[in-house]
Amino acid sequence: MMSLKNVNLLHLLDNAQIGVVIHTWNTQVVYANPAALSLLNVTLEHIKKSSGLDEQWEFIDRQNRRLHKDEFPVNKVIRLNAAINEEIVGIVCRQTGQVRWAKVSAYPETYSDTELGFVVVYFTEVTEQLTHFSFEDIVKNAQDMIIVTEAQNVTGPLSPKIIYVNDAICRVSGYTQDELIGETPRIFQGALTDSTATLRIREALLAKESVTETLLNYSKNGTPYWVEMNIFPLKNQLGEVTHFASVERDVSTTKFHSEQLNSRNEELKLIKQNLETLVTEQTRELRNANVKLEKLAYFDALTDIPNRRAFNDALDKAIHFAHRHEFGLLVGIADIDHFKQLNDTYGHGFGDDVLVIFANLLKTFFRQEDGIGRLGGEEFGFCMVVPKEHDVNCVVERLREKVEALPLRYAELKEKQFTVSVGAYCAKMLQNMTARELLDMADNALYTAKRGGRNRVEVITQVPSNTKAC
Ligand code: GH3
Ligand code: MG
Ligand code: MG
Repeated sequence: MMSLKNVNLLHLLDNAQIGVVIHTWNTQVVYANPAALSLLNVTLEHIKKSSGLDEQWEFIDRQNRRLHKDEFPVNKVIRLNAAINEEIVGIVCRQTGQVRWAKVSAYPETYSDTELGFVVVYFTEVTEQLTHFSFEDIVKNAQDMIIVTEAQNVTGPLSPKIIYVNDAICRVSGYTQDELIGETPRIFQGALTDSTATLRIREALLAKESVTETLLNYSKNGTPYWVEMNIFPLKNQLGEVTHFASVERDVSTTKFHSEQLNSRNEELKLIKQNLETLVTEQTRELRNANVKLEKLAYFDALTDIPNRRAFNDALDKAIHFAHRHEFGLLVGIADIDHFKQLNDTYGHGFGDDVLVIFANLLKTFFRQEDGIGRLGGEEFGFCMVVPKEHDVNCVVERLREKVEALPLRYAELKEKQFTVSVGAYCAKMLQNMTARELLDMADNALYTAKRGGRNRVEVITQVPSNTKAC
């Protein structure tokens, strides 16, 4: 039998798949086999000139941290004078930065206490094992649901046939893989699944095209959930469509939120509309209230003609107008005679009727551009712009006559006579004249009319030195 001595161990090392590097105790490389040279990406000449302390080596650990020289396998063995076993070390290629991973073991080889020995380092490449991942794992473990069906017989009752489902499908639908394989995806559809969407899917499958839809699916226990699905054809090496893959995502929460958002939007729209209606109504009410307030502020509530304040405003305007256009201005006060007696005899209500009837008469007697107003009690004011030459006496007299004739026309007066006395002032030169002065002059005239026996008119006409009387 052949002795082991005959085995050429060096020849064995040269052909081994395991990388082997032998260092002297001072880390100088004395041997490296081809597998080691390949993994370390160096030539034999180069490595024989180098040691474990050289700057050229760059090793990293699993956390990608660069190893300190002391941690290089050979240096560690020397430092600890002990073996290291299956440490994972990354060998960084200086030129490309690429990392190859190796499982490294090393041990000291000593011969006697006095003689320094060697350090043997050996390693195998594990890059593939460390960095490889499987696409099947991705599909299997994806959070999205993935189904693969056959591409034949798309329209058959049990077609298309499911040939693969990932874990997510089972998790969401509640079916097991065994229950789903051989079934059709129609198993997920139910009463409220949109049939127009499923029709679109079927047409896309028949045309062997991709399609994206959002569909209501049902789990095994009947719980509905929304999925957004993207179905696309898979081809064999001859370019023929053999399968369809469907990547689906449960969008129930998003859909629920968007529906909630939509209904909230509708609510907000309604609130906005209601608010707008409310604001419009309140604006209208405010406007009406303003009109009422204005009416209250400027109109006499009983007779519905301007009150003293409004009459004074109108008189001021008439003064300016007459002055600017060189007209005369007639200002008068009409006071109902013995009104107290009318009240006392026929009642306050009757007195009110008389006031209203007289106010209405003033409204029709004077023109739009003239001013009238209730100055208080049974006293009414009027003013009218007149040409300077106009005879105003007859105007005032006509007013008195109209009042005298009233009981003949008004049933509510029941033939009860009432009369007015009118005092008026006709101003020709209005410069510097105030409403108060004009009314005082009219009041003086009224006093004269009353004193003269009532049911009379008294007109005082201003006679400036350079004008004729009107
Ligand atoms: P003269 O002929 O001097 O003007 O006498 P008169 O009675 O008309 O005048 P007087 O000033 O003595 O009386 C006015 C009365 O008018 C007294 C008051 O009670 C009454 N009066 C004032 N305002 C109203 C009102 O709004 N309605 C009624 N019915 N009477 C009123
Ligand atoms: Mg009176
Ligand atoms: Mg009076």
